[in-house]
Amino acid sequence: MKFHTKKIDEVFSILDTDSSGLTSEEAEKRRKKYGLNILPVEPDKRVFQYFLQQFKSPIIYILLFAAFMALTIREYMDSGFIFAVLILNAVIGAYQEYSASQKAKLLQGLIKSNAMVIRDGILREIESQLIVPGDILIFEPGTKVTADVRLTETKNLIVDESLLTGESVDVHKDALFISNNEDLLLPERKNMLFAGTYISSGRGTGIAVATGKDTEAGKIAQLLSKKSKARIPLLEKMEKLSFTISIVIGIMVAALFVIGMLKGMSFYALFLFSVALAVSTIPEGLPVAITVALTSASIAMSKRNVIIRKLAAIEGLGACTLIASDKTGTLTQNKLSVEYFISPHRVYDTAALNEVHDKVYLASVLCNEMHYEKSEEGGVDFFGDQVDIALAQFAANADESYIESSRSYRKIDEIPYEPVNRFSAVMMERDGQIFQFVKGSPETVLEHCDMTEEEKRAILKDVDEWALKGYRTIALAHKESTDEEKIDLKNFSYLGFVAIIDPVREESPEAIRKAQLAGIKVVMITGDHPNTALSISKELGIASSDKEVMNEKELLAWEKNGANAEELKNKTVFSRVSPEQKMKIVIAYQTLGHYVAVTGDGVNDAPALRHANIGVAMGKSGTDIAKATSDIILTDDNFASIVNGIEEGRRAHDNIRKVIYLLISTGFAELVLVMLSFVTGLPLPLLPVQLLWLNLVTNGIQDVMLGLEKAEPGILNRKPRSPQEPIFNRLMLRRIVVGGLYIGFVSFILFYFLLESGESVESARNMILLLMVLFENVHVFNARSEINYLHKIDYKNSIFLIYLVIFTQLLHLLSMHVPFMQKVLSVQPVSLDTWMKLALLAIGLVVVMEVDKWLMKRRIKKHSAQALLL
Ligand code: ADP
Ligand code: MG
Repeated sequence: MKFHTKKIDEVFSILDTDSSGLTSEEAEKRRKKYGLNILPVEPDKRVFQYFLQQFKSPIIYILLFAAFMALTIREYMDSGFIFAVLILNAVIGAYQEYSASQKAKLLQGLIKSNAMVIRDGILREIESQLIVPGDILIFEPGTKVTADVRLTETKNLIVDESLLTGESVDVHKDALFISNNEDLLLPERKNMLFAGTYISSGRGTGIAVATGKDTEAGKIAQLLSKKSKARIPLLEKMEKLSFTISIVIGIMVAALFVIGMLKGMSFYALFLFSVALAVSTIPEGLPVAITVALTSASIAMSKRNVIIRKLAAIEGLGACTLIASDKTGTLTQNKLSVEYFISPHRVYDTAALNEVHDKVYLASVLCNEMHYEKSEEGGVDFFGDQVDIALAQFAANADESYIESSRSYRKIDEIPYEPVNRFSAVMMERDGQIFQFVKGSPETVLEHCDMTEEEKRAILKDVDEWALKGYRTIALAHKESTDEEKIDLKNFSYLGFVAIIDPVREESPEAIRKAQLAGIKVVMITGDHPNTALSISKELGIASSDKEVMNEKELLAWEKNGANAEELKNKTVFSRVSPEQKMKIVIAYQTLGHYVAVTGDGVNDAPALRHANIGVAMGKSGTDIAKATSDIILTDDNFASIVNGIEEGRRAHDNIRKVIYLLISTGFAELVLVMLSFVTGLPLPLLPVQLLWLNLVTNGIQDVMLGLEKAEPGILNRKPRSPQEPIFNRLMLRRIVVGGLYIGFVSFILFYFLLESGESVESARNMILLLMVLFENVHVFNARSEINYLHKIDYKNSIFLIYLVIFTQLLHLLSMHVPFMQKVLSVQPVSLDTWMKLALLAIGLVVVMEVDKWLMKRRIKKHSAQALLL
């Protein structure tokens, strides 16, 4: 149906609806007929597909090749073992990836969008997926359009249709537009809104004409869903790293292979060994372990009211060095209430409400975009902008009838509130009388008032004083015009201003202190009055003097002088900020080297959110567009949640380093042992199957557990890591070398002496294998912290890891006793005495790593603390 060619009345009758909307019953009927208003989604991958996916890796191809080779020369034992390893590995990997993806899907489901709809004659907010054709929808700036809509009323309605058309120009909409060209291009159908677009500014009302797959967006959904998924930088880095390491190891293994051939070793034995060595030293499990760590972090965050929209944001939160926060709602409670009314002659407190002039209350309820519903207890519930609600409540407190009587006025014209304007205005008519009202920040309202400059200055001085006490101030003015047809912002008579209190959130000061301790700078960016901002920021602990505040004039001057970033170094509060300035402030801090998290809720915050390193949208008060451009969403709009997110982000980053450390240092150790034996002319210290077994029972299971470790003590007391800092910093390299060399050398020396003392090669290998399993078992604990001594970390946090380590050790001991495994792995039981001696050697590794930490800490104390740390 080409609704853009139809008159509004026709559309009403085609869809069998009217301006008071559908009834709930009818809506339910239509929902059954048309289905939910959602786009078809790609079917989930099956577990089996995850399983197959595990085989898409060069290492696996090599192993498969080795297994077939073993088959061709009838080494059935070897071949069977390799197959078993392959399948087990794939099962473990598939399970981990599948459960991670399932959980990630659950989290995405938490992000819902709502729509304002008129049903049963009343304005309601419903989940967008419940919209049906025929619903009457109301649009405000920032809302996402989720159905195709024929507009019935528009007020300066401007829409961003870039998703649909690929063009990022704003499109003006007009309900009165009509065309008889059925094939008009979508952007030219000015009386229509399309699903997937966003309202930039203005207001509008319309009829839903198509939902779900019937919308224009639904028709191209196939195209949209094929878009490639965003890559995660950390994962990409890791894949590259794995690749580089693979190349290096590949070259070493090839060299070893050639030398072995020259020495006259059998081709098959050498080949199998090279493959096994490559498999156990290449950290191919890294990407999976990191995915699991990131998913577990996003689940932990969702429990702390942070929803991760892009996995990369977890890494970003960990590196955050500056938070630029909104004031209202994020740091304060957003529970606004009017405490005083201040006319030029008198201050009225709540006890003197009935002495306030009638016009003040009329301005409060008429120049107001709130909606209300009768509550069950007989009162009224207000919905909408908190300033508007506070003003409506203010009038209702004086006399409840103001709310009802506001309905008897007819709106002739309005200038809806847009944060850039800092005011709103209406023109109303009743019984032939016409009224105009403005309300907004006192500076803007006074611009439209008839007064001497002196009078204005006196009022603004008053305003400054009230603001300094922490009150938000909203001025009101009116005009009784006779011959004007539209609002004319001239010659208003000033009424006075209200002083609104918005208490700070209880948890904000503590959260700000935590952030500051963690080396994170906190700044406040607000549209409010500089004095209000200063007073509140003092209460919060963000600023200590007015030197840290930038007001409107200073911001303009700063912009004019080239927005020099250095000038922002000592500032913490920005007041009367325009959306563009907000973005410039963010960029300036980034040029100072900051990694910036920015909060936002409105349409106008989208540019700043887009430029931020971590865009933070508000789950409750945020508009759809703010959410769509953000990286994370706070479900409780609370500043404290950002700090929790940063803590979780740091934990995730730490844990990923732990996994990397374990995998790479043990691989390095194995390489050291093998290379030493090789150059000194000893036999191979481990058989290929033994290497594979070692890799399977230790790393294959233990690494993932490290990714789930709890936060270490003091995680919020250290400085943020530099975003440029590579994973392989000095600390990581040093620990790899120290740990790897100890394991490599000790096992080599043992191997050497065992052979010297006349032990058979089989028996020596048996002991080396046991020693290596023990080493890798204890090394997991070394991996648990890079800087804290092990006894400082609560073992109760890792009970599961401890069980797992004991399990793998028992598994190995068991295999030494089971005849079948004895044959496969060429192992035999050892005496308790021997086991204890080997265990002692292994525990030596912990001692060495702890001593190394101690040496490092001593050096850090002497030199700058940051030199070695993360
Ligand atoms: P904040 O940064 O605290 O959220 P806002 O951007 O919401 O501040 O508000 C900036 C200024 O705009 C306020 O100080 C007030 O003067 C004015 N203002 C806010 N809300 C409204 C409204 N609904 N109607 C008119 N003016 C408003
Ligand atoms: Mg606001």
